[in-house]
Amino acid sequence: LVKITGLHKHFGANHVLKGIDLEVAQGDVVALIGRSGSGKSTLLRTINGLETIDKGELVVDGAALHDGKGDLRALRQKVGMVFQQFNLFPHLTAGQNVMLAPTVVKSTSKREAEDIAKEMLLKVGLSDKFNSFPDQLSGGQQQRVAIARALAMKPKVLLCDEITSALDPELVNEVLAVVRQLASEGMTLIMVTHEMRFARDVGNKLIFMHQGRIHESGDPKTVFAAPQTPELAGFIGAVQ
Ligand code: ATP
Ligand code: MG
Repeated sequence: LVKITGLHKHFGANHVLKGIDLEVAQGDVVALIGRSGSGKSTLLRTINGLETIDKGELVVDGAALHDGKGDLRALRQKVGMVFQQFNLFPHLTAGQNVMLAPTVVKSTSKREAEDIAKEMLLKVGLSDKFNSFPDQLSGGQQQRVAIARALAMKPKVLLCDEITSALDPELVNEVLAVVRQLASEGMTLIMVTHEMRFARDVGNKLIFMHQGRIHESGDPKTVFAAPQTPELAGFIGAVQ
């Protein structure tokens, strides 16, 4: 579903992604881990077309970028993304936040967008919050609205960048439960996470990034049980 070949990205003189090769199949749940600055967010953002690519190829469900050139719009329609900060529009209700992209980007009718929003809010356990404004919701609820908003565009793959890192500890599980549910329904997920247990239990692929490269990867249970490189062993030791 996602195929990345020889991907390079620079920020000025800073060579941030140094030849990433990655294949993600339909239904995969990929956990992306690594130290701060290793390039995790940049990789997710390139998959979503939010960062330009200097060199390499990226294909998501047939939408391709080659050395950064291609149909960016097609690519973005395939990919949904959820961020650490929920970034909901404060003056719109939960329902309106979820309806916005389908109506603006896909010219879906208001009626149909409303149905989609209701369906997606139900999926994240917030069917009763359609008319609530973001400041009337907890952080965990706001993040679940953000997930519903991403799902409303019916993406082929959902990217999650540390989506529980800004939450109070007692709110983390309700968001992880939604992700777990999506995974069990067969949603293809690529998530940057510090929740190592979650990565191990829910993920079927683990990717450890180090200095702009995929340093180690494999089945999460195997990789966690027996890291093959001192860098990953050190990282696991540091976060546990
Ligand atoms: P963290 O765990 O802290 O989120 P990360 O693995 O997500 O780290 P990135 O955000 O991808 O790391 O950053 C990788 C490198 O790219 C860092 O050296 C960072 O300073 C640099 N970088 C990221 N975004 C930009 C930008 N917009 N402009 C310039 N440099 C950037
Ligand atoms: Mg990051």
